[in-house]
Amino acid sequence: MRVLMLGAPGSGKGTQGVRIAERYNVPHISTGELLRAHVKDGTKLGRVAKVHMDRGDLVPDVLIYAIILDQLIEPEPPRGYVLDGFPRTLPQAQIAYEVAKEMDMTFDAVLCLDIPHDELMRRLEERGRGSGRADDQEATIRHRIEVYEEKTLPLLDYYKERGILVRIDAVGGVDEVTQRIFDALDRL
Ligand code: ADP
Repeated sequence: MRVLMLGAPGSGKGTQGVRIAERYNVPHISTGELLRAHVKDGTKLGRVAKVHMDRGDLVPDVLIYAIILDQLIEPEPPRGYVLDGFPRTLPQAQIAYEVAKEMDMTFDAVLCLDIPHDELMRRLEERGRGSGRADDQEATIRHRIEVYEEKTLPLLDYYKERGILVRIDAVGGVDEVTQRIFDALDRL
């Protein structure tokens, strides 16, 4: 099972990604989490990435390649995966495809969690109050959604053309959405 998660900040792709990974017994690889680990460890990469993350901007592509490619040089790279947060731009999608092709691990499905703009804002404001994540303040939230719409939404057409895009209605309870995802994946 090789799945890619797409969805706006607050669409629940992290939560759902973990559940998919558990069900199919594959690693959940989240670029957001990998980046936050770098920030926490105070690495050079983390210090540079933090400036962009705190503003709600994307981290420059080259830094993302460094942390993602790092996952593949393990003695035994994962055969399956749930990739969460990468690719997020068209250049990243092209690189992801090149690498996956070389390594014989191209995606089976791209799951896009669909959610209306208003519901998204409501969820994110709620999350910002609870988590204390520095990038969850309200102005940056709005900015992150703009960045998603500008940089990441074009990926939907890219994957639709390749016939691997699966759209999921992500409004509803967490379990309900999980069930929709499992049903869709079982049909593949
Ligand atoms: P969310 O999906 O809620 O934005 P993530 O944990 O996926 O949260 O990502 C947090 C931040 O990490 C993003 O706002 C961005 O700055 C950075 N980031 C994660 N993945 C990428 C990526 N593929 N390219 C550029 N920046 C990224």
